[in-house]
Amino acid sequence: MNGRLDGKVALITGAGSGIGRETTLLFCEEGAEVVAVDIDHEAVKATVRTAEAAGGRAVAHRADVSSAADCERMVARAEEEFGRLDVMFNNAGIMHSEDDDAESTTEATWNLTMDINAKGVFLGCKYGIPALRRAGGGSVINTASFVALMGAATAQVAYTASKGAVLALTRELAVVHARERIRFNALCPGPLRTELLMKFLDTEEKKERRLVHIPTGRFGEAAEMAQAALYLASDDSSYVTGTEFVVDGGITAAYVTPT
Ligand code: NAD
Repeated sequence: MNGRLDGKVALITGAGSGIGRETTLLFCEEGAEVVAVDIDHEAVKATVRTAEAAGGRAVAHRADVSSAADCERMVARAEEEFGRLDVMFNNAGIMHSEDDDAESTTEATWNLTMDINAKGVFLGCKYGIPALRRAGGGSVINTASFVALMGAATAQVAYTASKGAVLALTRELAVVHARERIRFNALCPGPLRTELLMKFLDTEEKKERRLVHIPTGRFGEAAEMAQAALYLASDDSSYVTGTEFVVDGGITAAYVTPT
C-alpha cells in the first residue's frame, strides 16, 4: 500500500495519550517510521505496542520536553534508529488544575506550564532544526490551541499565554527557515474529548457550558487532530507554512451558536 508518509521519519511528543497517541498510530499506518516520545514511559510503550501490532514501525522514547538534554537526546534517537528526521510534532502539553486568573495563579503554576508548553516547543525546534536540515528540509508541527486566538471567561492564564507563545514562535521560525525547505505550522485544536480537557471539565455542567460555544455541538476527537497533523506532515501541504491551522468545530468562527 502507498502511504502518504512513506519513507519519512517522524518524532511525536506527548505520544502516550490523546492527540500524540492517535497521530503515532495514523503516521505508522501511512508508512512513517516514528519515534514516539512521552514523559510517561509506560504509556508511550503501550502506544508503540499498538502501532507495531498493526504492522507499524515505531520506537518508544522517554523524555521530558522541558529538559534541553532530553530534547537533544530524543532527536539523536531518531537519527540513530531510522537514519534521518523529516517531521517533528511538538505536541506534548499540560493544563494545570490550579491555572486560573492572574490574581490566583501561582508563580509555580505559571513556570511549570511555560516550561512544558512553550519552552518544550522551543527546545524541540532548537534540536530538531539541524536534523531536519540534514534531511534536506521537513515539516514542524507545534500544537497550540484555539485559546491562543480568543479569550475565555473561564481563565487559564498560564495555559493561554503558553499557547500564544507557540503561535508567535512558530510564525517566526516559518519565516526564518522557509528557504531551507523547513515548514512550520501551529495546529490549533478546539475543545477535545481527551484526558487533558475532560480532567478540567470534570462535571456535566462544565462540559455543557463549553459545548454551548461549539457550532458542531460536540467535542473534537484526538483522531481528527491526527488527520490534520497528517496533512501538515505530508507533502500534500508543501506550500503551507507559518499558519495557525485551526481544527475546532467552528468555535473561533461563532458569535452565537445554533441550538
Ligand atoms: P493528553 O493529556 O491526552 O496527552 C498529553 C501527553 O503529553 C501525555 O501523554 C503526557 O504524559 C505528555 N506530557 C506531559 N508533560 C510532558 C513532558 N514534560 N514531556 C513529555 N511529555 C509530556 O492531552 P491532549 O489533549 O492529547 O493534548 C495534546 C496537546 O494538544 C497539548 O499541547 C494540549 O495543550 C493541546 N490541546 C488540547 C486540547 C484539548 O481540548 N484536549 C485543545 C487544544 C490544544
